[in-house]
Amino acid sequence: DTKCEIITVGTELLLGQIVDTNSAWLSEVLANSGINVYYKQTVGDNFDRLYSAFSEAQNRSNIVFVTGGLGPTDDDLTREVAAKLFGTELETDQSTINKIKHYFELKNQTMTENNQKQALCFKGGTVFNNEVGMAPGLFYEFNNTWWIFLPGVPREMKWLVSEQVVPFLDKHGVLTTKLYSKVLSFQGIGESILETELQDLIRNQSNPTIAPLAGNGYVTLRLTAKATSEIESDELMAPVEQQIMDRVGGYFTGYGHIPLEVQLMNICKDKKLTISSCESLTGGLFASTLVQHDGASSILNGSIVSYTNEVKEHVVGVSSSILDNQGAVSKACAKDMAEKTREKLNTEIAISFTGIAGDDPVDGHEPGTVFIAVSSEDHTKVHERHLSGGRNIVREQAVLEGFKLLIN
Ligand code: ATP
Ligand code: MG
Repeated sequence: DTKCEIITVGTELLLGQIVDTNSAWLSEVLANSGINVYYKQTVGDNFDRLYSAFSEAQNRSNIVFVTGGLGPTDDDLTREVAAKLFGTELETDQSTINKIKHYFELKNQTMTENNQKQALCFKGGTVFNNEVGMAPGLFYEFNNTWWIFLPGVPREMKWLVSEQVVPFLDKHGVLTTKLYSKVLSFQGIGESILETELQDLIRNQSNPTIAPLAGNGYVTLRLTAKATSEIESDELMAPVEQQIMDRVGGYFTGYGHIPLEVQLMNICKDKKLTISSCESLTGGLFASTLVQHDGASSILNGSIVSYTNEVKEHVVGVSSSILDNQGAVSKACAKDMAEKTREKLNTEIAISFTGIAGDDPVDGHEPGTVFIAVSSEDHTKVHERHLSGGRNIVREQAVLEGFKLLIN
C-alpha cells in the first residue's frame, strides 16, 4: 500500500495571500491514479519548520510531493532543506544551466548567481525537464521514500506532473489505476434532448462518468472510467454504453468525434453518391474542407467558385433575368446555381452558397444572410440562414450549415 503525502511550501499560502490549488489538483490526479494521499502539509519559507515537515513525511510516507520553493530567490529553501535531510550534495544540472544561460543571452541580460540556483539538483537524483518554465522537477529516493519536487507555479507544476511524473510512476508500476475515456458521437438529436433522455444515467453514474458535449453540428458523450487496465475499463463501460444505446442508439454515428465532412463522406461512399458545389461567398471553402480528407476524390467531382455575377452567368449558367431581378443574394439564384452545377458537373447532388459575408448590406440584405441550395435529381431545396460573427466566421458557419443540410 503506497502512502502518499503532499507538502506545499510558501509563507503566502499560510497568510492566505494565495490559495493552495496545487495540492487540490495533485490530489485529484493521484486519486485517479490509484495512489492514496494520506497527509497534506503547508509550510512557510523557514528552514527549521521545513526540515521538520520533511522529516515527518520521510518517516510516514512512501511518496512525497513537494511544490514551491524551487525558485531563484533566497526564501526558496526547498532544495537546501531536502539536501540536508538526505545527507546529499547539490550539484549543477548541465542541461538546465545551459538552458538558463541561453535564456539570459536571448534577453541580453546577465545571469546572476541566484539564477544558477535553479539548476541545482540532488547528487544521485533524477531531473524532470521542464519545457514550460525554468526550474526542473527533481526526483530523489531516500530510505525507500520517493521524493518529487515541483515548482510552485501551477502551470509548470501541472505540466511536469502530466508529462513527466505520471509517465515516470507508470513506468515504475506505481500507478494502480488510470483514467480511460471513450467518445460516442450522435447526429440528428439536440444536446438538450440527449441530456434529458439520459439524465438519470448521467447523474447516477460514477464509474464511468458520462459527460455530454455539443459543438457545431455534433453532440458527443464522453465516458470516463477509472480502471486498473483497459480490459477492466471496457467491462465497466460496456453495460453503461448498452443502456445509452437502448435509449438513443438510433442517433449514434460512431466512436470519437467525427467531423461533419467526414460523416458526409462516409454517407456518400455508402450510398455511392457524388457531390459538386457552387460557391460564392464561401469561395471554395466547402470543397477545401472536404479535400482535406483522404478519399475526397471518390465523392467530390468539383466545385465552381463563382464570385462575380459574370462568372455566375457565363460559367455556371445562372439566368441573367434572376441576376437582374432578384440579384445574386437570393433564393432563386441559389437554386439556379445548384441546379446548373449539378448538370454541368454531372453529380447526384449539388450544393450552392450565395450570400453576404462582409460588413455591409447588399441589395437590402443584412450581412450574414446566406442562401444554401441542395439539389438532387428529383428536387432542389433552398435554405435561408442569418449568421453572424464577421466575414470569416460567417463563411465557416455557412459551410457547416451546408454539411448539416447534406447529412440530414
Ligand atoms: P519560482 O521559480 O517562480 O519562484 P517556486 O518553485 O519558487 O517558483 P514559489 O515561489 O513557492 O515557487 O511560488 C511561485 C508562485 O506559484 C507563487 O507566487 C504562487 O502564485 C504560485 N504557487 C505556489 N504554490 C502554490 C500552491 N500551492 N497553489 C497555488 N499556487 C501556488
Ligand atoms: Mg519562488
